[in-house]
Amino acid sequence: MIYLDNASTTCLAPEVQEALQRTFSIYGNAGSLHAQGRIAAETLHQARATIAQSINAQPEEIIFTSGATEANNLAIYGMMHNPQRTLITSSIEHPSIYTPAQLLAKERTVTFLPVNNEGFINETTLAKITNKQSFVSIIHGNHEIGTIQPIKNISKTVHDAGGILHIDATQSYTKTTIDVKKDNIDLMTISSHKIHGPKGIGALYIKKGVIIQPLIHGGGQEQSIRPGTENVLGAVGFATAVTTATKNQDKHVQHMLKLRNQLTEQLLTLPKTKLNGNKKERLCNNINISFLGKEGDSLQLQLSKNNIYTSTGATCSTTTHEPSNVLKALGLNNQAILGALRITLSRYSTPEEMIICLATLKKIL
Ligand code: PMP
Repeated sequence: MIYLDNASTTCLAPEVQEALQRTFSIYGNAGSLHAQGRIAAETLHQARATIAQSINAQPEEIIFTSGATEANNLAIYGMMHNPQRTLITSSIEHPSIYTPAQLLAKERTVTFLPVNNEGFINETTLAKITNKQSFVSIIHGNHEIGTIQPIKNISKTVHDAGGILHIDATQSYTKTTIDVKKDNIDLMTISSHKIHGPKGIGALYIKKGVIIQPLIHGGGQEQSIRPGTENVLGAVGFATAVTTATKNQDKHVQHMLKLRNQLTEQLLTLPKTKLNGNKKERLCNNINISFLGKEGDSLQLQLSKNNIYTSTGATCSTTTHEPSNVLKALGLNNQAILGALRITLSRYSTPEEMIICLATLKKIL
């Protein structure tokens, strides 16, 4: 099998599997006062500290959630609970931001910033409309086209105007270096299963001092911002995935970039192809190419018959069969939208896999 759908999810790293095995026996409730509880609480604390350190945050600024969908919903609804606030987001968000924003737009002031044809948000509009009531939520590395927003500039614009900034870093975390202090980020979403950790755990970084309203109420865990018995096993898996990814981050990124660039160039020599997104400011593992006159869905199925797994866009939206909001926002015509195929690599991808993928695509085109 050749797995090239790593933006949807990733395999568990062997180091993560080992860490999970070692942690199976820790079953105490991290809230219990007895020794078993304390072991669980200490294990959870270590995991939280590891994740915090990776983005230059404090452990208490990391709130564990079930994944990025929940973290994004918590960020949006938790901040927009303040009736004075207005929401500014982009037209290329993941559905876990885009849909809540659309729902809020029925009764609140919400702006969907336009993007240019490579997927960069319009910073002039952002500067014009941001004020101290603004809650700005922007995707960092795009899940479909890989475009990486200039987050430092965006952060400066938002903060100069007195607004609050959330970024969805689900795809960019550990593929780019994010320092929440230097980059001046107020809230940030991350997810474990995109970085070779287990599914069902993610986190919202919330800068100390930012007041957020919880979406659910319960026993006071996670500073009452996200109560519920803590997922210690998941947190250990997540933290181990972070350690493994960041230890050799440059090497992993260079590896993905090399394979990604070679395959992209070869694919673009094929007739009627067009790269979606920007060539340079792009997630190191992302290829999104439109095969004009073809259907991405059908290419994906034929590749799958050959045991090569790719995607046509956000996996989460394949069930709705709606054309992707991201590709539409780029201003692509229908042919380019329909013909789009997303190929996303991981640090485990090999040159041989790239050769087979290219040869198979040539055969089926
Ligand atoms: N945001 C982005 C940018 C994503 O790519 C995804 C996953 N496709 C999510 C949020 C949702 O992540 P999770 O599966 O952890 O809920």
